[in-house]
Amino acid sequence: MPVRAYVGIGSNQQNPLLQIRNALAALGRIRQTEFVSRSRLYMSSAMGPVDQPDFINAAASLDTRLDAHTLLSELQSIERRQGRVRGSVRWGPRPLDLDLLLYGDEQIATDKLTVPHPGLLTRSFVLHPLHDIAPDLRLGGRTLPELVECLPADDLQLLENEVSPGR
Ligand code: ATP
Ligand code: CA
Ligand code: CA
Repeated sequence: MPVRAYVGIGSNQQNPLLQIRNALAALGRIRQTEFVSRSRLYMSSAMGPVDQPDFINAAASLDTRLDAHTLLSELQSIERRQGRVRGSVRWGPRPLDLDLLLYGDEQIATDKLTVPHPGLLTRSFVLHPLHDIAPDLRLGGRTLPELVECLPADDLQLLENEVSPGR
């Protein structure tokens, strides 16, 4: 049986809108994986230590037969193909960031992978896009509508009112 996985997508370098579109197309080409849906696009101010451009953010859902670590490798290979170079600055600017937010209802804690993603519940630019595509999901006993209601989105700007067809 495939597993429903959710991916957080962010970009703030090298034409972020184009980066997000290319990333969505690339997610649709991952082996043994079906693209299910994507959120609307959002813009957020960057967190982290360095002054850097705003981010475009989105989330996507996939049905995958890959195990979680293999899926993460596929996400990292898409990041590299879109020009991501692993630098020394944590939370620095990047053309593409793909985080594995959820992998079914599994809890994973290895050197390489923590799922659910640790930033999931505290970052509005992650939780609001996720809410677009998974309004019925429950996390830690609370529904996504409850969780987003508690997380102000002052720093978040909606760029689309609805998802246009064809990704
Ligand atoms: P954050 O994870 O706080 O959003 P980041 O996205 O900037 O920060 P990266 O530099 O992209 O962090 O990734 C650092 C490492 O995080 C990766 O090499 C990866 O092994 C690890 N990692 C752990 N859990 C996850 C996850 N759920 N999704 C993606 N990467 C993860
Ligand atoms: Ca991230
Ligand atoms: Ca990341």
